[in-house]
Amino acid sequence: MKCTLCKAALRLLHKNMYDDRFAYPKYFDIMYCKQCQFAQTTPPLESREIPELYEKYYPHSKTNAAQVRNNFTGMNPTQIADKKGAEGFPIDLLKPSAKLLDVGAGACYFLYAMKLLGFETFGLDPDPSAKKIAAELDLEVESAFLEDKPFPGMSFDVITANQVLEHTPDPKAFLNAATERLSKNGLIVLSFPNLNSWHRRIFGRFWINWHVPYHINFFTKKSISALAKMSDLEIIDYKTVTPPIWSRMQIRSLWKYPKKGEANRIWAAEKAVLESATNHDSAPAKKSLKGHLKNMVWATISLICLPFDYLADKLGRGDSITVVLRKKTSD
Ligand SMILES: [Zn+2]
Repeated sequence: MKCTLCKAALRLLHKNMYDDRFAYPKYFDIMYCKQCQFAQTTPPLESREIPELYEKYYPHSKTNAAQVRNNFTGMNPTQIADKKGAEGFPIDLLKPSAKLLDVGAGACYFLYAMKLLGFETFGLDPDPSAKKIAAELDLEVESAFLEDKPFPGMSFDVITANQVLEHTPDPKAFLNAATERLSKNGLIVLSFPNLNSWHRRIFGRFWINWHVPYHINFFTKKSISALAKMSDLEIIDYKTVTPPIWSRMQIRSLWKYPKKGEANRIWAAEKAVLESATNHDSAPAKKSLKGHLKNMVWATISLICLPFDYLADKLGRGDSITVVLRKKTSD
């Protein structure tokens, strides 16, 4: 088997990996290319299998438009920029009036924040629930992939894809499609898991970002640079930023680790907590003493992780990479 990026021979990194969150009942292997530091899930899912996979196994967001709106109520622009939900996004590099396309808009949290900050916003998400939330928030979101050439005739000053690249069956085609839609001096901002992170080294096959079969591609600085070069792009900013929730979930995920074909309830539980935390309309659910104690334990673990993650990010070994790309200039 050959590397998608450089065609060198791949070697086996982890055998018999399975969906340890949502119980998709098949085995997958992780193959690694030493030459360009790229890893891929095999067998890769074909594009036509993906809608059914997500429909059947991946939990849809229960977020509604009011929750997204309530999150930013009464905030000044600095507070909105801090809370926009895209770690490491280089807001200082952009004009507030810029035309922004967010690929994988999801619950439209980031897109809505960017609109409040004055950006002209557009979004894409294959999940129809994204389009529904967007309509209620007066946002323009299409149920499509970037490769389908949505918003015909338009170009964008910035194209963002927050935790999307690793899900994309063909990252080269994805980046080419993004490059084609850039306006002059336009930027592409990608964030995705860091294959060279300390978390990956420490947790090995239990790293939460293997997330098979939904994650297909894994990059380091070296492999994302190689991919950028293929699309005639250059990297103008690179950093690693570890979202605090990732560290907490990494440790939590090991608790009652599921067998193949079993779901790990903590993922659904964490999502419910996040969604109820953003829902100011509903009355707070009553918690038992045991529930409060559990929360305190996890809050303490999160605090302990902070200095570790800070150091990892400083040394480029954090768990998520954020990279800013632009078209190569000939001069
Ligand atoms: Zn390679």
